[in-house]
Amino acid sequence: MDKNFIKEMEAKLKEQQKNLRKDLASFAEKNVHKKDDYNTRFPNYGNKDEENAVEVADFQDNLSLENDLEKNLAEVGKALERIKIGTYGKCEKCGKKMGRERLEAFPAAITCVDCKNLS
Ligand SMILES: [Zn+2]
Repeated sequence: MDKNFIKEMEAKLKEQQKNLRKDLASFAEKNVHKKDDYNTRFPNYGNKDEENAVEVADFQDNLSLENDLEKNLAEVGKALERIKIGTYGKCEKCGKKMGRERLEAFPAAITCVDCKNLS
């Protein structure tokens, strides 16, 4: 795969990584012991019953958001790692080269469309 294209994807991935980390940091604490792991903060709106109820609801929402963002962050990190070791753009399942369109649409892709649809 040509170097300029990979450079372009690398820049995109780094941008995504930055944004994901920023989003996570806005409602979660970074785990200093584990890379790209975050723990959602429990919000504190006050001590009234209604306030406590909203705290719990928001906490649950943020927990599932945290999960999604962490998953994306892990995929982006993996793709960047694959660029480093030179396997970027190769499907992890079948080993075939992925098309440019697939990577342009989803730079963190690790499987080709066929394999993705199978799983
Ligand atoms: Zn495949």
